[in-house]
Amino acid sequence: MVFTTQAPSTQRNTQRVVPRCTPCLCGELFHRVWRGLLALAVLAGPVAAQTNAERILSEADTRSHDYDLVHQRIEAWGFDWDSLAFMGRVTTTAVCRRPGLDRIVLDAGRMLEVRRVTQGRATLAFDRPGDSLIVRLQRPAGFGDTVRFVVEYRGRVAQGHGLYFFPAEPGRRGRQVYSGGGTDGNPNWFPTYAGPEDKETWDMIATVPADLTVVSNGRLVADRPAPGRTHAVHWAQERPASTYLVSLVAAPLVKLADRWRGVPLAYYVAPGDTAQARAVFRMTPDVLEVYARLAGEPFPWAKYAQVTVADYFGGMENVTATTMADWLPDRRAELDAPWYREVLIPHEAAHNWFGNYVTTANWANYWLNEGLAQFMVGQYWRVKRGDAAAEDAYLADYRDYLEADGRRRMPLASLRSNNIYPKGSLVLRMLRLELGDQRFWAAIHRYLERNALGSVTSADLARAVLDATGENLSWFFDQWVYAAGHPEFSVSATYDSTARTLGLAVVQTQRDTLPADSTGLRYSVPEVFRGRVTIRVGTALADVVRELDLRQRAETLTVGPLPGPPTMVVFDDGNRLLKTLAFAQPTDWLATQLQRDPDPWNQAWAINQLGGRTTDSAAGAALVRAAAHLGDATTRALAAEALARFPAPVALPGLEAAVRDTSARVREAAVGALGGVGGPGALALARAAFAGDPSYAVRAAAVGAVAELDSAGAHDVIATALATPSYRSVIQSAALGAAVRTADAGTVPVLEERLGDQSLVALALAWFAQHGSDAAREALARHRDDERAWVRRWVAEAYRRSGLD
Ligand SMILES: [Zn+2]
Repeated sequence: MVFTTQAPSTQRNTQRVVPRCTPCLCGELFHRVWRGLLALAVLAGPVAAQTNAERILSEADTRSHDYDLVHQRIEAWGFDWDSLAFMGRVTTTAVCRRPGLDRIVLDAGRMLEVRRVTQGRATLAFDRPGDSLIVRLQRPAGFGDTVRFVVEYRGRVAQGHGLYFFPAEPGRRGRQVYSGGGTDGNPNWFPTYAGPEDKETWDMIATVPADLTVVSNGRLVADRPAPGRTHAVHWAQERPASTYLVSLVAAPLVKLADRWRGVPLAYYVAPGDTAQARAVFRMTPDVLEVYARLAGEPFPWAKYAQVTVADYFGGMENVTATTMADWLPDRRAELDAPWYREVLIPHEAAHNWFGNYVTTANWANYWLNEGLAQFMVGQYWRVKRGDAAAEDAYLADYRDYLEADGRRRMPLASLRSNNIYPKGSLVLRMLRLELGDQRFWAAIHRYLERNALGSVTSADLARAVLDATGENLSWFFDQWVYAAGHPEFSVSATYDSTARTLGLAVVQTQRDTLPADSTGLRYSVPEVFRGRVTIRVGTALADVVRELDLRQRAETLTVGPLPGPPTMVVFDDGNRLLKTLAFAQPTDWLATQLQRDPDPWNQAWAINQLGGRTTDSAAGAALVRAAAHLGDATTRALAAEALARFPAPVALPGLEAAVRDTSARVREAAVGALGGVGGPGALALARAAFAGDPSYAVRAAAVGAVAELDSAGAHDVIATALATPSYRSVIQSAALGAAVRTADAGTVPVLEERLGDQSLVALALAWFAQHGSDAAREALARHRDDERAWVRRWVAEAYRRSGLD
């Protein structure tokens, strides 16, 4: 799964051994002693808290269930868009894994009205506690026996829980219904086993109105006309997969067929989107080709479809039929490196191997699905565009990770971990650097091959590394997977000009202070992260490079004698470690590093340091040089952004160059920075960018900058921008923000005209109504009964959220 929480305008890329019983005498003795110790501990008080590593490695988060799901035939018909209801019949085949099994417990959302359960001719009794369906078998089954029973029900869902129903809105979209899938969606619309570790095959037979295309998993078996101007469409998923990957989409879609190495590919899109869709999805065969080559494992499925649906948050890797948002970037949006292309398509494609083929055994190891998929995005771009592009992707992950870690510090492998995407990606990046390219991919290949169509925990990845490379990386998994946090370095440097040596004091300042939760589980943060950092000391003559093995919280290192005084000191050359770094340096060192260090991540660090020195003209000059001339667009953009806090005479020369950059991303950053710099020169540049730049994102940034620089005179730009169509309405959204910030009630007539564009327009009108605009209040009232259903919905929503009335 992947989604974006960023506003469209900025959518950039974002072992310890537990006691185990062995079948030998000493094992048995050990077990008895262990049990005795446990009993003593119970007598003495609460059992000692469990560590996260113990919990994850013991698979405490994998559910027990006493049957093996083999196959389900899922039939659904009679979809009713008014009541969010349908009729369902599910035939379940399962193998019993307990002698005398007399009941089968399935997950089934409480809103499903189960009407009848039958086994052959017999009607079975059943119970419905909570979100479970307990089927009482006709007679107890033996270990290994196969049972088959049919559940008939009337399905009803809460919108978005299991299924999404969207009624037709003529002029905007046709009616559609689709499943959400994911970690808890599917049992809300059909009875099944929800855990990811029990894989099955399935048939999906959906009967829907004839104008709707049905897409599901696997192979299309039949599509037959049915009574009442409907058709019955039958799909078969013939290789086992987890039930959270079951998908049903019924929507007015057309299919664009493609092919790669004999694998049928399909892009299902709204009829009006076909030209755009060809351009957007044409990267798919290449993405699959790169992944198959890197992973050394052929594509495992019967087909790969990407299915676009309305009002979706991002993408869900439903097996062989990924569900995706329908906001396809248009040609102009391509200038802004759209998230859809940069992240969404390659991330979801990676799930064909990582997640769908080899699947986490429980949600506490979910990072194996999501971290690997996110990591592969950077690897795809590394192959296509080079290392710097990969590092750009990982730099975006780094920012997302720090933000998540700042909210709550959690290990990568833990239930509901908040950092599985970005930290997972970054930890795999480190693993690749630790092992080297060849050994890393050999380990990944081993992981996929050994666990094909199966389920895994983090220990299986460590084991694959061990088997493929002979490298025992338990220390790596302990600190990066089972423990939380990252090293927080505080570094200081002292140069001895007599001895010509540089002394470095390196301290890890992170603290292991996370509290235990109510179950006694406490996440630990290593007081010492192990690893190796390379230190590069620049001088006027040559660089001196030294390695430091991290073994203690505080380390010292003397580098030298040096050929001359240091001109820069790069801590962690090549940026091998996930970390934060506090290292106060003279401005000229930072400026030199910014100029010379090719790593975009280290450059970003230097920019951040320089950006805080707003009264230091040398810092400003270094940023101006970087914004205007450095090779990497991300670096130029970050330098331009940092200039926002500098005085106009310092910043403007850099921003003037950056607003003419060939990269829209740099221009966007520069135009955004103009708002902070101020003055007539900045205003002229911002207005020119709004009038003439081809990029949506740059023009959106320009609206904000003009409003910030000249709130009294921005009306023309805001009004024009409100009526300017753009990908995901980024220009209009920027204008709505600007209209509210400048309290420009003169925009109310334009807002009323644009009510049909997006829900934010009604909210902006509500804001003006709340702030005394009778015109806005009247405009909203006029559209309560708008003939367009979606406008009525948005207006009602605006009333509700603003508390008007
Ligand atoms: Zn994903």
